[in-house]
Amino acid sequence: MKGRAFRRAARLCPANRALAPLLNQRGITHEMAISEQNYWLTTAAMPATDPAKPLPENVDVAIIGAGFTGLSAARTLSKRGAAVVVLEAHTIGWGASSRNGGMVLTGLKLGVNKLISLYGRERAQRMYAASLTSIDCVERIIREEAIDCDFSRCGHLEVACKQKHFDDYARQAELIAREFDHQLRVVPRDELHTEIGSSIYYGGMVDEVSAGLNPARYVAGLAQATMKAGARIFENTCVSKIDHESRQAASGWRVSTPHGSIWARNVFVATSGYTGKATPALRRKIIPIGSYIITTEVLPAALAQQLSPRNRMIYDSKNYLYYYRLTPDRRMLFGGRAAFFPETRSSIHRSAGILRRGMIEVYPQLRDAKIDYVWGGTLDFAFDIMPHAGQLDGIYYALGYAGHGVAMATYQGQRMAEMIAGDNPENPFIGIPFPGAPLGLYNGRPWFLPLAGAYYKVLDWVS
Ligand SMILES: Cc1cc2nc3c(=O)[nH]c(=O)nc-3n(C[C@H](O)[C@H](O)[C@H](O)COP(=O)(O)OP(=O)(O)OC[C@H]3O[C@@H](n4cnc5c(N)ncnc54)[C@H](O)[C@@H]3O)c2cc1C
Repeated sequence: MKGRAFRRAARLCPANRALAPLLNQRGITHEMAISEQNYWLTTAAMPATDPAKPLPENVDVAIIGAGFTGLSAARTLSKRGAAVVVLEAHTIGWGASSRNGGMVLTGLKLGVNKLISLYGRERAQRMYAASLTSIDCVERIIREEAIDCDFSRCGHLEVACKQKHFDDYARQAELIAREFDHQLRVVPRDELHTEIGSSIYYGGMVDEVSAGLNPARYVAGLAQATMKAGARIFENTCVSKIDHESRQAASGWRVSTPHGSIWARNVFVATSGYTGKATPALRRKIIPIGSYIITTEVLPAALAQQLSPRNRMIYDSKNYLYYYRLTPDRRMLFGGRAAFFPETRSSIHRSAGILRRGMIEVYPQLRDAKIDYVWGGTLDFAFDIMPHAGQLDGIYYALGYAGHGVAMATYQGQRMAEMIAGDNPENPFIGIPFPGAPLGLYNGRPWFLPLAGAYYKVLDWVS
């Protein structure tokens, strides 16, 4: 691990201590010390910014959040000559963008029939096409900027936890081929060993177009490219308030931070699951949901090959799902919604044991594998589980990726930047209804998450 990356990771996770006693209570008998930190950050070095640099007085665009969405937008706008600042409350990539599973996935969370019934065939087709374009968008940026992040079109595998889930795969594959001209391959149970070294599933479905990458290296490279294009990134600069303020007949915004304020002609909010008080209207439309990941020690090559012979990005068919993959250095990375709440020290502690048990149910071969890392992050779910982009009260935004954000956040950042620059880019997520909570019973504090968690567990039992 590079020294600077380690110090950064340690600073971000002050609770970087061994979890061995807790896990022993949960029946893990052999010696293990789990580091409570994001494994990906140990493999990446974020570009340096200058903390002494003052905020400029005016800019064309102030972007809030230095993750995939904000950095992708800043890169595009800067390349077009706009004066851009990215204001980040913590450090570059601090949010979900460095913490995720690195799965660059096709499709959307909602099923095909649901998409068509909600938005009509033509728009649903454009949405699905956007999910495919978004992967090309990531691949193109990585190539253009020579980002070293282990991008690979390895494909994804969805595995069926029940016979009826598998029975539905053939129907889904046929529907997606017919409606979206996109090919998926159904893998029956007796052939599943060619895809995964687990015998608990009823079959699978493969999409060869999906990809995998190292998210921390990708967000670091994106930040580097953004700075090279001319954007200025201010870390540890939390936006507290955004007020409308016209200047010499130009409409714009006063953006306040603890380091002073800045006037911006346009503001783009890219805060995803960490959307907070500075943008209350958006906060009320987004539910922050925790997701957690463990990684094992580096595995022997033969075992890794047995667990995932084609190195796929894998997830299962439950609502309360597990997602997993091998890392480029051959660790098993295993994630899930072990707790529904956004990450806290105690939810991260608990997740290590819960996820390890889940991993061993899938892969008994990993019973003796040491768990090296555990961490958590926050997903952004809209009430309709759809991505949303556009303008709210004059402020631009893109969010609501619901665990499908590696590709979609990059795509939305780029498309929203083109829109802010005055173009009319293809973006089928603009203009769709953006629902809030039923009866307005939500002020941004998700009091109902334990109920939602319980509901989805029951749903997984019965459906
Ligand atoms: C554990 C986990 C696993 C995931 N796995 C996958 C996966 O495998 N595949 C996939 O496609 N998606 C996955 N996702 C989702 C994906 O990571 C996100 O959708 C994506 O990173 C969102 O990027 P973003 O730039 O919009 O937001 P983020 O990366 O979350 O960045 C938002 C930033 O805004 C900053 N911010 C918030 N408020 C303010 C403020 N007031 N002032 C200044 N800055 C502020 C935050 O500090 C944060 O850094 C996962 C997410 C998590 C948490």
